[in-house]
Amino acid sequence: MDTAKSGAAGAKPNAVELASRLVSATCPACGHHVAAPFYSGRRQPLATLGWPRTASEAKSMPDLPLDFVRCTSCGHVFNSSFDYGQVPYSKMPNLMFNRGTLWSGFLRACCQEIVRRLPAKPTVVEIGYGDAGFLSALSAACPAGRFIGFDPHGAAAEDTRLELRQELFDPCVHLGELRPDLIVSRHVLEHLTDPLGFIQHIALAAACLGFRPLMYLEVPCIDRALETGRTEDFYYEHNSHFTTGSFCRMLEASGARLETLGHGYDRELVYAFVRLEARAELVQHGFDALAFNVAAADAGVGMREDLAQLCASGKRVAIWGGTGKSAAFLCAHGADADRFPLVVDSDAAKVGTHVPGTGQLIRFRDWLKQHPVEAVLIPAQWRAADIVREMREQSIAFETVLIPHRGRLIDFLNTSHPYDVSLSNLARALECRCPELSEV
Ligand SMILES: [Zn+2]
Repeated sequence: MDTAKSGAAGAKPNAVELASRLVSATCPACGHHVAAPFYSGRRQPLATLGWPRTASEAKSMPDLPLDFVRCTSCGHVFNSSFDYGQVPYSKMPNLMFNRGTLWSGFLRACCQEIVRRLPAKPTVVEIGYGDAGFLSALSAACPAGRFIGFDPHGAAAEDTRLELRQELFDPCVHLGELRPDLIVSRHVLEHLTDPLGFIQHIALAAACLGFRPLMYLEVPCIDRALETGRTEDFYYEHNSHFTTGSFCRMLEASGARLETLGHGYDRELVYAFVRLEARAELVQHGFDALAFNVAAADAGVGMREDLAQLCASGKRVAIWGGTGKSAAFLCAHGADADRFPLVVDSDAAKVGTHVPGTGQLIRFRDWLKQHPVEAVLIPAQWRAADIVREMREQSIAFETVLIPHRGRLIDFLNTSHPYDVSLSNLARALECRCPELSEV
C-alpha cells in the first residue's frame, strides 16, 4: 500500500532527507536490511499484556521505545527497538476478542473455506491454538478428522475431539510424527521475531520428508491503517505489522506457493492458503552440508592420528604459518606447543606474537636456516607452492613438505592433490576454464 495515500499532513520530505534518515534494520517479513523511519511514538508501557492491578501500578509501568520503521523493499512495518524479553507472554494471556458479530461471521466463512479443501479424514495442526475455539469449530465441521493444537500458553483440553499440546511446534519432530494435511497459523506470525524463518523451516522440513502440506495463514493487515493515517495500531506488543504486500513477499520468500489470498473483517485481516513446496535446491544444500559435516568429523580423527604419528617419528617439524587458517588447524586438531613447538611465518609482522589457542611463539622463517628441520607442515594448502618456492629461494633445507588433505597429512611434493600448481597443471586449468585463452 502506498504511503502517499496515507493522508498525513505536513511537508513532503525530499530525497536528500530520506537518504540521510535511512536505518539499518532487518525486515522480519522479507529479510531486507534497509528501512525508513515510520512512526516514533512517545515511549509507552505495554498496552495489552501488562494487566496493572492499581492506578499507581499502571502509572509506574516501565516505558518502552516505539521506533517503528518501514521496510523499503516490501513495506512491512516493525519496531526496530523491540525486545521480545520485555513481553511477558508466559505470564499473561494474549486475549483475542473473538465474539463480535462480524468477527464470528468471518470465522464461520473461514472454517467452511478450510474444510472444503480438506480430504475426508484430514490431520490438521494448529500452531498457536490459544483458547482452541477455532480448532474446535474446525473439528465440529469435519468430525472424521484428527485435530492437534500446539501452544505453550494455550488452554487445557476441554473438547475431547482435540489433542491440545502445551508445547512449541517443532517442525523437525512433529511434521514427521503427524504428517498433517493442513497447518493452521492464525495471529501468530505478527508476534514472531522471524516469521519468514518460521515458514521456511516448516516448508523445508516438509520437503525433506517428501510431502507438501497446505497451510492457512492469517494475520492483521495495516493497509487501512496506512490509508487512514491511523497510529493507534503501533504499540509495543504489536511489533510487526503486515501489509498485503509484505505478507505476499514473505510467502514468496518462504518456499510457499500461493493458492488463495483474501481479506476479512473489512480488510483488517489478510489470509492466505499456501502449498508448502521448498525448492529441491534447498534440500540438496542441506544434504551437502550434512555430508561435509560427517566428512569433517572423520577427517578430524585421521588428522589427529597422523599428527600423533608425526610426533612419534622423532622428526624435527616446523609448522609454517601461525595465524588465520594455520591457527585454526592447530587448534582444531590439538597440535599443541609441547609436541609441535616450532612455528614459523613468512610475514615479519606476525613474528614475536603467539599462535592463538595453542600458544607457540611465531618465529621468522629464517630461524630454519640455523635450526633446520626434516618436515615442514603447511596447514594453508593453497599457499604451499609459494612457500616451497620461498624455501628454495632462501636456501632453507627440508626433506618433506606436508599438507592436510581430506583428513590426512600428505606429502605435498610426491602425492597427487588439487594444490599442485606446477606450470603444466596451470596450463591445464586455463584450458579447462577458457579454451581461447590457452590457444593464445
Ligand atoms: Zn521487507
